[in-house]
Amino acid sequence: MTTSEPAVPPRSDFIRDLIDADNRSGRFEGRVQTRFPPEPNGFLHIGHAKSICLNFELARQYGGAVNLRFDDTNPTTEDMAFVRGIEGDIEWLGYTPSNPPYFASDYFEQLYEWAQLLIRKGKAYVDDQDAETISAQRGGFTAPGVDSPYRSRSVEENHELFAAMRAGAFPDGSRVLRAKIDMNHENMQMRDPVLYRIRHAHHFRTGDDWVIYPTYDWAHGQSDAIEGVTHSICTLEFDSHRPLYDWCLDQLEIPGHRRPYQTEFARLNLTYTVLSKRKLIQLVDHGLVEGWDDPRMPTLRGMRRRGYPASAIRAFCAHIGVAKMNGTHEIELLESFVRTELNRTALRRSAVLHPLKVVITNWPDGLVEMREAVNNPEDETAGVRDVPFSGTLYIERDDFMEVPEPKYFRLAPGREVRLRYGYFITCTDVVKDDAGEVVELRCTYDPATGGGQAPDGRKVRATIHWVSADHCVDGTVALYDRLFDAEFPGERTGDPLDDFNGGSRELLLGVKLEPALVDEAPASVVQFERLGYFAVDGAAPLLFHRTVGLRDEWANIQKRQSR
Ligand code: ATP
Ligand code: MG
Repeated sequence: MTTSEPAVPPRSDFIRDLIDADNRSGRFEGRVQTRFPPEPNGFLHIGHAKSICLNFELARQYGGAVNLRFDDTNPTTEDMAFVRGIEGDIEWLGYTPSNPPYFASDYFEQLYEWAQLLIRKGKAYVDDQDAETISAQRGGFTAPGVDSPYRSRSVEENHELFAAMRAGAFPDGSRVLRAKIDMNHENMQMRDPVLYRIRHAHHFRTGDDWVIYPTYDWAHGQSDAIEGVTHSICTLEFDSHRPLYDWCLDQLEIPGHRRPYQTEFARLNLTYTVLSKRKLIQLVDHGLVEGWDDPRMPTLRGMRRRGYPASAIRAFCAHIGVAKMNGTHEIELLESFVRTELNRTALRRSAVLHPLKVVITNWPDGLVEMREAVNNPEDETAGVRDVPFSGTLYIERDDFMEVPEPKYFRLAPGREVRLRYGYFITCTDVVKDDAGEVVELRCTYDPATGGGQAPDGRKVRATIHWVSADHCVDGTVALYDRLFDAEFPGERTGDPLDDFNGGSRELLLGVKLEPALVDEAPASVVQFERLGYFAVDGAAPLLFHRTVGLRDEWANIQKRQSR
């Protein structure tokens, strides 16, 4: 069913308790079947990943099955490109559904027949009123609903009108099919909900076959039943729909062991992030990001491009578990899973983002020395590589200060530092341009320090990184900040887009990369020493996206919280 082992052994939770109880009572004859039901109107985000991990891990743990079912009941917003994209995202996350993907649209005929059954039983009627009137008649928590004047239509008339709706006799919005339940029900969802609406629109799978489309409430539970789903798991906002889910199945007289039931869990929320497809669509449509796979997006394709390992996302989802209460997780927690995973796997490389030239005045003319550098101190099997060292290097601009502040221990006039995998150097001269800006440093090196220490035991207080000017290659680095600059986007004005962080991407051109970086495979992630983790862009040559920084911000948050 799945292609990878669970990152963390499953902990018990209320959903697993329910399944255990069902297995003990024999409710489903020991069968466990779940589903993930995306609407193909956008790509998946990290919130969907939580639901995917839950549904697929349950199927794995209980030796059951899990379906991917596209909930394609809304022809105007859905598209085959989203179907393919969602399939690819799930596969990337490390999961394979038990069956080829299913589509709610494959059940349209069955759903139609079941709607006819409701009519026959006197449990559904055609309402000629418009959506606004119907909505106004539903009443409120304290106000009872008002019966539609069409509520008492005869079974025959309902049959005829429903058939005419299907045949295309009426324009959009002119009629709906409603369940006949109770206009005074304390649960608003039960006040004669709409089951079918008229929509003369081309559907990406059924074409022009249908001009009536089932609503979520009519399609969902019935689709679950058709597929033999046992545990239909959805997010908390659907808990008021549960009685309707059950009511629909009651009318169809599905035998108990084939009858799914719905359980709700808290959706994932993350600070500084929006997990609503509607809002993500706006970011794309307004051109605020480059697309669904923009590395700043909380989409799976964005995170993938950014260099987030799928295993880190699975481990995060396993760690947060499922709860019955809505809450928000810190984005730093997710990032710490990414960092932990990359620390283990990413090769170390050198890159200088803001280059400052260093000329070593006592370096033998024309000499190039290959220095051995460790590929990953966390993984001995990753081995070592040779890095060219010469008399002209680049270091980071902020590793030098002409007038060093207190506690600044890196390079300064007259000061000695260690070059990682190189030698000790001492700054002897500072070269400036006409504007007074430092453009070059002159340094001397101590040939006796090639082993990383001075034989006379003298200490330096800083180690900095470098690349050889004659050997490095120029590349581009994209640095990212939070996509939103508010912890809870939209809290202030109601619209998250008002908190969009316009400075969330900074492109650095002319970044100096050590030669080994030319050969990095697309999508691999490396650690630029001292700078963070960077993902190789698949498409653009020598473009690197910063995945996460090195600092464990999650540890700081925990420290603050425990105070
Ligand atoms: P959005 O709220 O982003 O528009 P959606 O619920 O409309 O999402 P669907 O494609 O219908 O998107 O979602 C498929 C499944 O993913 C549903 O079962 C839904 O409950 C679940 N899901 C969506 N968002 C989250 C989330 N933030 N956390 C957990 N599960 C989620
Ligand atoms: Mg939905």
